[in-house]
Amino acid sequence: MADKRKIGVLGGGQLGRMLIEAANRLNIQVNVLDAAASSAKQISAHDGHIDGSFKDAADVKRLAKDCDIVTVEIEHVDTHMLEEVAGEVQVEPSWKTLRIIKDKFAQKEYLKEHGVPVADSIDLDGKGVEGLKEVGKQFAYPFMLKSKTEAYDGRGNFAVKCVDDVSKAKEVLGDRPLYAERWADFRLELAVMVVKTKDGVLTFPTVETVHEDSVCKLTYTPPRNVSKAIGEKAQELAKKAIGAFEGKGVFGVEMFLLKDDTLLVNEIAPRPHNSGHYTIEACPLSQYDAHLRAILDLPIPQSGLRLREPAIMLNILGGQTPDSHEKIAQAALEHPNASIHLYGKGEARPGRKMGHITVTAPTLAAAEREMQPLIDLVDSQKG
Ligand code: ATP
Ligand code: MG
Ligand code: MG
Repeated sequence: MADKRKIGVLGGGQLGRMLIEAANRLNIQVNVLDAAASSAKQISAHDGHIDGSFKDAADVKRLAKDCDIVTVEIEHVDTHMLEEVAGEVQVEPSWKTLRIIKDKFAQKEYLKEHGVPVADSIDLDGKGVEGLKEVGKQFAYPFMLKSKTEAYDGRGNFAVKCVDDVSKAKEVLGDRPLYAERWADFRLELAVMVVKTKDGVLTFPTVETVHEDSVCKLTYTPPRNVSKAIGEKAQELAKKAIGAFEGKGVFGVEMFLLKDDTLLVNEIAPRPHNSGHYTIEACPLSQYDAHLRAILDLPIPQSGLRLREPAIMLNILGGQTPDSHEKIAQAALEHPNASIHLYGKGEARPGRKMGHITVTAPTLAAAEREMQPLIDLVDSQKG
């Protein structure tokens, strides 16, 4: 391809790394801003990368200087510098979108204003333990206490199960900007990857996500025990939510499916997302292909986002030992339909995302049979 535009990415974790895998196949240069030897930089040999932090204004400016389009693989970035450079370089999605989404409470308020159903929430800014007890009276227990910012993989959430948990919750999250959310008594969780292009909004299939300790453990595509109609309703809701934001690229939309089959949006990620990893093997175009094409205004046929074959994705989290992820990858080598992705993060720390495995098969039941021993192994390695 004769596309000489350079892309700058804020963040060099596994999402950036998989974005580069897709960009490499199109001869597109991606410059990464993150620490030296971060996951993404390891697979991209050129001298355009920046060693620094995506939270640092000067570093963001340095990255933008040599790029045509700047995008993100994490939302916890300096959006003020992105606003400043937006006149000289294209920023996708818009810094406005990133600024709203990086604050979970602002994100919820924004979605509500745009007619997207979300769990009720209460701002706790500056309120102490008494404020939390007030929430307990209003929402009853359990309720979810959340940090508005810098939250990921459940680090920033605390389930307040009874009044006696209140002081512990304050202890764990007390130094962060907080809000409370009404408990969503969901039947299961769904997610949809949405692609926003210059022409409109497209969707990948609906996925069931299974979280353990607030961290995504598994995804099932199609979802188990969910009708086609509900899957389509989830895609429509995801489209509506993302339609409310400015800018191009892929977005992850996490949802709760309640027991009466209504849907609430849990949260939005303005970038590729864990719930979209399965697309690498299961769809003609992956979420990473779609992100690149969307920000570069290249064609994305909707049928390229279809499910070719049912898929299950299993996250490999750091376990009891520094090499637990390697043992899991080793075992997966024996499975003919297991695609293994390791992220180059070195030694495992308990709970850290070290890699993932995707199994695709002609039926979800066959994929489940092949994945089960690997799930058992992951459980036995848990830190
Ligand atoms: P991510 O890694 O997806 O960014 P996060 O740290 O931002 O995660 P959330 O998505 O807010 O965390 O919550 C993680 C999980 O905790 C959810 O997927 C869900 O299982 C549970 N959870 C979150 N909010 C609620 C709620 N209001 N009621 C019940 N469970 C909830
Ligand atoms: Mg989140
Ligand atoms: Mg989440």
